[in-house]
Amino acid sequence: MTAAPLDPAFVAILACLHCGAEVAQDADRLACQNPQCGRRYPVEDGIPVMLSTAAEAPMSAPGGQERP
Ligand SMILES: [Zn+2]
Repeated sequence: MTAAPLDPAFVAILACLHCGAEVAQDADRLACQNPQCGRRYPVEDGIPVMLSTAAEAPMSAPGGQERP
């Protein structure tokens, strides 16, 4: 999957819905920078999906779950 880089200035204004920490792009995800939160938000067609229902909590995917 090809992930287009987001505008860093755009990413900088985004914040994690769960804890309010800043996020950073990680391939096709935006990852919360709070290590105690660690939620990841999908980026679809270059648009971050900042929804609590779309967020992936790493605790729920032990071992690192990757979708094809
Ligand atoms: Zn967070």
